[in-house]
Amino acid sequence: MPLSPIGYYSDFVVYPLLITALAASGLVEAGLSGVGWWIATCGSFIGLWTLIEYLLHRVVFHRFPLIRDLHHDHHVNETASRGTPSWLSLSAHGLVFLPIWLLTNFEIASAVSSGLMIGYLWYVCIHHILHHWHPPHAGYVYRLKQRHALHHHIDGDGSFGVTTGLWDRMFGTATTKQTARRS
Ligand SMILES: [Zn+2]
Ligand SMILES: [Zn+2]
Repeated sequence: MPLSPIGYYSDFVVYPLLITALAASGLVEAGLSGVGWWIATCGSFIGLWTLIEYLLHRVVFHRFPLIRDLHHDHHVNETASRGTPSWLSLSAHGLVFLPIWLLTNFEIASAVSSGLMIGYLWYVCIHHILHHWHPPHAGYVYRLKQRHALHHHIDGDGSFGVTTGLWDRMFGTATTKQTARRS
């Protein structure tokens, strides 16, 4: 949805601060004996985020009424300040964190939520870079930019992954030369 410049850039400030505070508290809680487990759990949920990102984009952003229209606006106005407001994404993260904390403990909840929030921040940063920067040809970011440009301009029914093309390949939505030619 349309955001003010402060609204658009607030993720880049709020999330690093929150992740640092949450991860530091979680690691203290885990103690020396639990550090390895905490980092492994956090890493697993960074990986899980990439699947959530793919599903959100493919199903929610492209299918849900109203959200679909807001997302279409981003497809057309690529460099405008559009996105998910921080209060909304933080609420969603809170709805994950609180029940896990209540049902298990802070150590687990902090590892899970730190992973999901690092994944989300990575997605927000990468998506911003893809639309505003000119990365050097060849390399990870340039490949992501090419794939996201295909999604925006050639194949709106494919190439949904922003931070990775893994799930597009797994679910058969990767843009091929044939699908690109048909579009
Ligand atoms: Zn899209
Ligand atoms: Zn985009």
